[in-house]
Amino acid sequence: MPKHSPSSLNPKAPLVLDTRDLPRRPGALRTVKRVVPAPADLGVELIGVPEGADLDLDLRLESVSEGVLVSGTVSGSVRGECGRCLREINDSVAVPVQELYAYENSTTDVTTDEDEVGRMQDDLIDLEPALRDAVVLTLPTNPLCREDCPGLCPECGVQWDDLPADHSHQQIDPRWAGLSQLNRTEE
Ligand SMILES: [Zn+2]
Ligand SMILES: [Zn+2]
Repeated sequence: MPKHSPSSLNPKAPLVLDTRDLPRRPGALRTVKRVVPAPADLGVELIGVPEGADLDLDLRLESVSEGVLVSGTVSGSVRGECGRCLREINDSVAVPVQELYAYENSTTDVTTDEDEVGRMQDDLIDLEPALRDAVVLTLPTNPLCREDCPGLCPECGVQWDDLPADHSHQQIDPRWAGLSQLNRTEE
């Protein structure tokens, strides 16, 4: 019988789910609730979960005929930068996760691609790839500090929020208005 390469997963790693106490009988259930530190680079360019920040896993593991269905929510805080005004964004996300992991050597294991259906390594599940996909799908590629953020003045780069309502670079300073009038008559 062909043997998979020895498991490279560490059962103690924060994002590895150990299913040893989940009976391989369809319908068997187990819940996993734990708080783990976020891995590096969990997010998109402008926003993501800071490395080491708390990630709340609230998951349900269910035995199905050829593997384990993992579903639930992963939540945590996100930090980023507003795509318009560059101000810091501090927010939180709750990301739904649902992924099927096939038992080693099951029909599903043999007949599907690894990017269609996840794989178990022995009794272990590596949640990280699915978590990454789910987080990236949830986070905005162009995050905003607020829906109607007016952004920056393109001339001076100051946030519109911090500028007076009549801020403009077209306007001539009233102290020089007379002078420019003078220049014009000379032309
Ligand atoms: Zn903004
Ligand atoms: Zn300006």
